[in-house]
Amino acid sequence: MLPDTFEQSIWSALSRPGPALPVLEGDMAADVAIVGAGFLGLSAALHLAELGVRTVLLEADVPGFGASGRNTGFVVPSLKTALGPADVGASLGEVFGERLVDLVGMSGDIVFDLIRRVGIECDAEQSGWMQPAHTAAIASVLERRVAEWQRRGRGVEMLDGAEVARRTGSTRFHGALFVPSGGQLNPLAYARGLAGACLDAGVSLFAESPVSNIARRDGKWLLSSRKGRVEASRVFLATNALTGRLAPELDRSIIPTRVFQIASQRFGPEEQARILPTRSPIADTRRHTFAVRWSPDGRLLTGGLVLPGPNRLNRAEAVFTRRLEEFFPAAGNMIAEHVWTGVIAATLDALPRFLSLAPGLDAAIGCNGRGVALTTSLGREIAGLLAGRVTAGEFVLPHVRPKAVPMRTFAEAAPYVWLGWSEFRDRRDLRAADT
Ligand SMILES: Cc1cc2nc3c(=O)[nH]c(=O)nc-3n(C[C@H](O)[C@H](O)[C@H](O)COP(=O)(O)OP(=O)(O)OC[C@H]3O[C@@H](n4cnc5c(N)ncnc54)[C@H](O)[C@@H]3O)c2cc1C
Repeated sequence: MLPDTFEQSIWSALSRPGPALPVLEGDMAADVAIVGAGFLGLSAALHLAELGVRTVLLEADVPGFGASGRNTGFVVPSLKTALGPADVGASLGEVFGERLVDLVGMSGDIVFDLIRRVGIECDAEQSGWMQPAHTAAIASVLERRVAEWQRRGRGVEMLDGAEVARRTGSTRFHGALFVPSGGQLNPLAYARGLAGACLDAGVSLFAESPVSNIARRDGKWLLSSRKGRVEASRVFLATNALTGRLAPELDRSIIPTRVFQIASQRFGPEEQARILPTRSPIADTRRHTFAVRWSPDGRLLTGGLVLPGPNRLNRAEAVFTRRLEEFFPAAGNMIAEHVWTGVIAATLDALPRFLSLAPGLDAAIGCNGRGVALTTSLGREIAGLLAGRVTAGEFVLPHVRPKAVPMRTFAEAAPYVWLGWSEFRDRRDLRAADT
């Protein structure tokens, strides 16, 4: 069993404490009750309160305790490598596909505009997000992706190999897709800032108030926590990969996937001028992606999957320091001064879902590894829907019943089977590209 690593992350070390929050005690009423104060629940609550809706937000631990406070902080207004805008229509249908692609395309600006509007200090840098191609063949796929985004009026660019070398400090890449509206931030400071903005907007926000039961009573929903209850007309679950027994149907609709992160020792201005000098975070196209960025205090952050088994944190440290050394040999030995882990809610098609669990009881889940920008944006859209500003038919995602991932126990092992196979194919691609 892994120890919890929330306090070990670079973000816990760098972020100011969040606002002091009460525990829910006694009975209260709301129009909408939201469960889970990650980016999704916080953004939905903030936008609902701004629309004048009486909103309660209940968090089991503290805001940002889940994936939101532990991720790499990449703001990615794009989809997974395997998914171009056209593929989304194939999964969700043309109308919803187009709407989701539009929202993804705008999601970087939505995050940075919100940060500016409500004044969140989270080291936000709209320095663009880059997806370098690890082979020439993938560079051609990215060129097609860029053309698709450009046809939709999005300022996505294709960079050639020389430009990528200049912007990354690595000569390994064959070009890159570049999204200028992306960037990076400190995700825990962002979550805590959103929590502060929620309080300012009038949200009743409670920490250390896990919801243990949701029941129907007299035409309303009744949410029970350890010391109190909330009665609400509508409930929205934003519990992501930590849903557990609260809503088994929701939990079974995703594959929880554990991801490890490291932060290196600090580097001075010379290395920072040589490696990623433009400060765009990068996530390359390998199947087991190499993703890296600078932290605000001059550390390289990277991470990924590690096979289950003993000493997983130690193995993560060894694997990811080695990866950094391979990519940036001139920077010398890497030391992981922070190692932590979190869980992603993955869906089989890597697309998010808006789910109806019962009339008036909804959930959204499955932003995969793209949740910083997408959950913030979806939260805003969900607020519009719950406030009655748009109908389900006009919403960005289809409103559907959850579907269990087939053979879930085996599916949970799939990312690790996939890891070995992917790394083998990545190495084969790289060897072929070198010859
Ligand atoms: C290691 C890692 C790196 C990642 N890197 C990136 C990245 O760089 N860029 C990117 O875009 N995405 C990234 N992601 C994905 C991104 O972090 C998530 O998609 C996003 O944070 C999900 O937000 P959320 O609000 O849906 O869920 P979460 O942040 O997981 O929040 C769910 C909340 O629900 C609470 N909760 C659960 N059950 C209950 C209950 N019964 N009662 C009350 N509260 C409850 C939990 O405590 C938690 O706070 C990464 C994820 C991980 C794990």
